[in-house]
Amino acid sequence: MLSVLKKIIAFSVSAILAVCGFMGMTNNISDDYEEGKYKNVILMIGDGMSFNNLEATKLYRTDGYLAMEKMPVKATSDIDSYIIPATDSAAGGTALATGLRVWINSVAVYPFLPYAPDDISVPVTLCELAKANDMAAGVVTTDETSGATPSSFSAHTIARGNEKDISNDQLVSGIDLIWGGASESINEENTAANGYTYIDSETDMNALTAGSKSFAQFSFSDMKYCTNNHDTPTIEEMTSKAIEILSADEDGFFLMVEGACIDKHAHDNDMDNMILSAAEFDKAVAAALEFAEKDGETLVVVTADHGTGGMQPDGKGGYKFTHGSHDMTDVPVYVSAEDAGFISDVQIKNRQIPVQIARVLGFDKSQFPAQKTN
Ligand SMILES: [Zn+2]
Repeated sequence: MLSVLKKIIAFSVSAILAVCGFMGMTNNISDDYEEGKYKNVILMIGDGMSFNNLEATKLYRTDGYLAMEKMPVKATSDIDSYIIPATDSAAGGTALATGLRVWINSVAVYPFLPYAPDDISVPVTLCELAKANDMAAGVVTTDETSGATPSSFSAHTIARGNEKDISNDQLVSGIDLIWGGASESINEENTAANGYTYIDSETDMNALTAGSKSFAQFSFSDMKYCTNNHDTPTIEEMTSKAIEILSADEDGFFLMVEGACIDKHAHDNDMDNMILSAAEFDKAVAAALEFAEKDGETLVVVTADHGTGGMQPDGKGGYKFTHGSHDMTDVPVYVSAEDAGFISDVQIKNRQIPVQIARVLGFDKSQFPAQKTN
């Protein structure tokens, strides 16, 4: 892992030298921000969360109110993967985790080397950068821990279905907490062998204290349907506890939180459960914002990898699904402060988000996620 990281960092230096006008080309990011201004960043990804998924959620569930929409910066992002203006959660997550667009199905790697930019085959993730900077790092999801989005922040493999490879990478990742639904290859033995406390209930989670690494394998069906048949925490409870643990690190933390089931229910055109998942994700955003406001050194960024379900107004004052796959439309980007380089009403590229996060966390430029111009 370390030698890979060194190679990646060495590559990043040459990539940055090679991409001329690096700072100038991002004019949809303001120059009016301070590098290293923030000690902590919480990146929250609503999987499948389009603008219209949120409109439906507000209409049917939250009385017109969403915590994320109260954030001061409201921008939009494209969802492109490598070459094409469409994506899945692996390529979408990878763009948000590494600043590089990869082929659909790829988890933080370029699987087809002839197409890889120069010699990048394994781009560095924000979690790896956080750990390389002595910070704490966490990955929280309502998907299985080996799902495409959490994997993009904690593993490198050519196909999102490689559950065993993903779980093996996660076990040696050094990430302080990896919490989500149970994955086949994760068990008490292999987590313990890699220095992780294995937990599988909210009771276990609440008993955790800062300073030890934990791997949570909760009931995925509870998380998918926002039920609590197996002592399972909500995404809001996971977010609050993860912040409590990670914020004990004096060097700061990076936390990714994914609301995974907006996408899953939108694929099934299950309106009730889609909006329930979106509303629960918004509660987690509210919890993160509450911490950020108290803390004063934490930036919260909320976005999506893509929309799902082609949600459109139904002509009768409501919303309807128009298909069961991923949308190609831009997604929301909400940011908790105006001094982080993000600008309202401006379209950015998904791959710019982790680069800007690296800047405001004050990472050394040689450690920035690699840049690619497509
Ligand atoms: Zn999907």
